Amino acid sequence: MKVVILLGAPGSGKGTVASRLAEQDSSLRHVSSGDLLRDAVKRQTPAGVEAEGYMKRGELVPDAIIAQMIGDLMAGITGECTLLLDGFPRTVAQAEILDGTISKCGAELKGAILLDVSDDIIVERIAGRRGCPKCGAGYHVTGLPPKVAGICDKCGTALVIRKDDNPETVQNRLAVYKAQTLPLIDFYRGRGQLSCIKGGIDPLEVIVAKAKQALA
Ligand code: AMP
Repeated sequence: MKVVILLGAPGSGKGTVASRLAEQDSSLRHVSSGDLLRDAVKRQTPAGVEAEGYMKRGELVPDAIIAQMIGDLMAGITGECTLLLDGFPRTVAQAEILDGTISKCGAELKGAILLDVSDDIIVERIAGRRGCPKCGAGYHVTGLPPKVAGICDKCGTALVIRKDDNPETVQNRLAVYKAQTLPLIDFYRGRGQLSCIKGGIDPLEVIVAKAKQALA
């Protein structure tokens, strides 16, 4: 198993790029830590119950909760694939835990790809973000609209706005990103494992093509 980390602020497009890449190449598997946590909250598992309050406030859930989920998921994977980790790690402590999990599973870290997007674009992106509560597909009202407004192209379900995409929580999530996740950029750059893609202006297909090059 190989591992590629997608880094970037909330709304930078990590999830969209990862799911496009995985649609185009069956050896790639998109793993979103936010989706794993939202699913645990929905099912009200013990981890989900503990994570819920942190997520509502836009804070990071404790490292141990999410590291355990990712560790369990990686331990259950058999056969060759490349994991696209979207949203994990988010702290240097999580990156160190991930190093341990990777060596325990006999996997290999291929590197980290940073989607670098300015704050004003991030705020606009999150304001227009919509998602399918059933299949998880992501949209944007202007940047990536569904064929029929408000309805998922893939499964016909009514789209929703994520609970933590409200303006106050978004400001907190951006502040948390700057304080706790930005140090990861230097962490992976210092190890010669960082590729950087300007994520703001180019159309999605151009960004996906650049990410593919970084994966090669
Ligand atoms: P996301 O969908 O990646 O924006 O994540 C949504 C929320 O889930 C975040 O605001 C955090 O509360 C929580 N979360 C996701 N990934 C992590 C992580 N690696 N560490 C801690 N909390 C996380």
